[in-house]
Order: sequence, then C-alpha cells, then structure tokens
Amino acid sequence: MEMPRRALLKVIVLGDSGVGKTSLMNQYVYKKFSQQYKATIGADFVTKEVQIDAKLVTLQIWDTAGQERFQSLGSAFYRGADCCVLVYDVNIQKSFEILNNWHKEFVKQADPVDPEAFPFILFGNKIDVDGGSSRVVSEKTAREWCASRGDIPYFETSAKEGYNVHEAFLCVAKMALAG
Ligand code: GDP
Ligand code: MG
Repeated sequence: MEMPRRALLKVIVLGDSGVGKTSLMNQYVYKKFSQQYKATIGADFVTKEVQIDAKLVTLQIWDTAGQERFQSLGSAFYRGADCCVLVYDVNIQKSFEILNNWHKEFVKQADPVDPEAFPFILFGNKIDVDGGSSRVVSEKTAREWCASRGDIPYFETSAKEGYNVHEAFLCVAKMALAG
C-alpha cells in the first residue's frame, strides 16, 4: 500500500513590526493570543501539520522581527520558501504602503524561478480594532493591490479573535503544496 506523501513546506511571514505576524502564528498553531507585545528576536519558526486531501503536510512557518531593515535577514532565510505571507495592519496606512518593499525584497532575496507565479498571500490583520472604526485601508484597496500583483489571494484576519486565521493558513498550505 502506498504511504501518504509527506511534505515539508517552508512559509515565510513578512510585514512591518507590530502588524501581528507572531500573533497570527500563535493563534494558528497554539490557539493563543497575548495582548503583550514581545518583539521577535531574529528569525524563528514553528511547525504545524495540515491534512490536505490525502496528503499530510508539515508547514514550517518562519517568523521575523518586523523592525529589521530589509537587508538584515539575508538570503539564507528566504531560500527554499514555498509560500510568502505578507501581513499589514488595516488600521495603519504605512504598514500597507510598505508591502511593495516587502514584496520586492522577497523576490530579490528568494529569487524564485518565476516571480509572477510565486505563491504570495496577503493578510489584512487587526480587523477587530475599535469594531472597525479606526480602519484606514479598505478591503477594496487591498484587493486592488492584490489584483495588480497577479491575483494574490487576500484574507482579512484578527489574530485576537481568531477570525479567518485557520482559513487563511489553509490557503497558505494549499498554495505552498501546489508550488
Ligand atoms: P509582529 O511584530 O508583527 O510580530 O506583531 P505581534 O504579533 O507581536 O503583535 C503586535 C501587537 O498587536 C501585540 O500587542 C498584539 O497583541 C497585537 N495584535 C496582534 N494581532 C492583533 C489583532 O488581530 N487584533 C488586535 N486587537 N491586536 C492584535
Ligand atoms: Mg513578531
């Protein structure tokens, strides 16, 4: 009998400091949320097994400190990535505008064979804040950015409430697996 195929997929999470990268990962992997801000030091990863159809896939999700200047991560960190998650905070304009830089930096460092076809995904996080009244980047604006980048999938999330976090990472797993 054929054993189910296993795959280890490398996922990189990028975005400005404080947008909720670590919180999203903690919510997804440990179902935990902390109000306390603890800056991530360097780069670290967590793993999570996901069943996709008949396949058991292990996601290796790499977290980064967002305050890092772009160059500081180095290409070893990016190398071999199967999917890149970009995160911004829907309440902070600058965290959205800087996505262009993160996108560019990933392409430069990871150097994927076909950057146009590489699986990126965008999370608009913290949609719970003030019941949405302090939001400054609209869903429409975010979706337009995604469309202009070759139809990047978009998810609005709340790491605090756990809203859409599983759905978003399931999409990550599927895209990483599909290559
Ligand atoms: P990182 O620097 O991107 O890793 O951001 P963190 O995950 O450390 O989160 C920064 C701060 O935002 C922390 O105080 C978190 O508790 C808070 N935070 C993260 N995600 C959310 C969210 O979805 N909603 C709210 N209200 N706060 C969040
Ligand atoms: Mg962090």
